[in-house]
Amino acid sequence: MQSVDQLKELHRKRFAAEPAVFAAPGRVNLIGEHTDYAEGFVMPAAIDFATLAAISPRNDGRVVLWAENFSEERTFPLASLPGSRTGEWSDYPLGVLQMLAADGHPIPALSLTLWGDVPLGSGLSSSASVEVATASAVTGLLGIKIPGPELAQLCQRAENEFVGANCGIMDQFVSANGAADHALLLDCRDLSYRLAPIPKNLALVIANTMVRHSIAGGEYGTRRAEVELACTILARHRPQIRFLRDATIADLERWGDEIPEAARKRARHIITENTRTVEAARALETNDLARLGQLMHEAHVSYSRDFEASCAEADLMVELANKLHGLIGARLTGGGFGGCTVNLVEQQAAQDFKVQLAANYQKQTGIHPEIYVCHASDGTRRLG
Ligand code: ADP
Ligand code: MG
Repeated sequence: MQSVDQLKELHRKRFAAEPAVFAAPGRVNLIGEHTDYAEGFVMPAAIDFATLAAISPRNDGRVVLWAENFSEERTFPLASLPGSRTGEWSDYPLGVLQMLAADGHPIPALSLTLWGDVPLGSGLSSSASVEVATASAVTGLLGIKIPGPELAQLCQRAENEFVGANCGIMDQFVSANGAADHALLLDCRDLSYRLAPIPKNLALVIANTMVRHSIAGGEYGTRRAEVELACTILARHRPQIRFLRDATIADLERWGDEIPEAARKRARHIITENTRTVEAARALETNDLARLGQLMHEAHVSYSRDFEASCAEADLMVELANKLHGLIGARLTGGGFGGCTVNLVEQQAAQDFKVQLAANYQKQTGIHPEIYVCHASDGTRRLG
């Protein structure tokens, strides 16, 4: 994480005002892929890469945003904040301001400095960390407290409606409500959640394959349609099945013949992934790391073979990890077709694991992967 003192100094120099500082982390999903829109379970952890937001009041009726990562300033008159996106980084904080205003919170004139170390566009959700950091900073300045789950929903609306990105609730939720040394099991149906302890001697090693296959965009829509088709067919027999969250493997065995093969496989992934995700939380709670590793492995195989959302590079990254010392479990995380794998690794082996995984991956693909050694961290908070 960036230094709070350095950030305060930056803010003081630029705005001649003493700021309050807030942090909001990025995240990695340990297990539960494509289950969110089936009203199922996900289990992410907040990580120790974060966006910091320094904030102070102004008396000139303006909102001034400074992005230290880009060395860019944007100034807006408070009386006419932009009502639509421009495609720039300022959309994220502006979207949050607009959603706060829409909820009846009067936005004051303010100076906001953003500075983060969440890698941008690498699947660790720097966007959610910017939104949640901004929301924490502005509510802090207003002296109001919005409960974490509500803050997350507000930030999701900012991203869906203002930024125009169709994301689920997971990223903002764990950035707002995560806890150090814990994963967060989230029920996407009602947003109830519980924290499951990750042993302190484990690291979250995130390995970026550095590839993102261009089919990703279109395939996402196809997958969703297939999942919905399977759900509709099962619901003809059992109307209680509103989403695949409500279906069981027994349902699929009984009526699966009626579902086209691709949709049946997607459904099998969602149904088994929900069961695995809930069981993975129990494995953490009972410190059954062997079981947890097995569940992560099964989740990867299911994501790769049934959901067909992996790719050669991600399969290779998981296969190489499986051969290394200290690994508990590895799988492709995120939307699929590339991106990062998440590896639960014994802390004392993590550095060697990182070096060897990078070397072996590079040897076979010619691609140098970025690998981050992270730990589960607290959700958004005031610093200093
Ligand atoms: P990610 O997977 O990292 O969330 P996105 O494309 O959703 O990728 O979001 C990345 C965008 O979020 C960046 O292009 C930038 O506009 C914004 N962003 C992320 N971090 C920062 C930051 N520290 N300061 C300003 N904007 C940021
Ligand atoms: Mg994002």
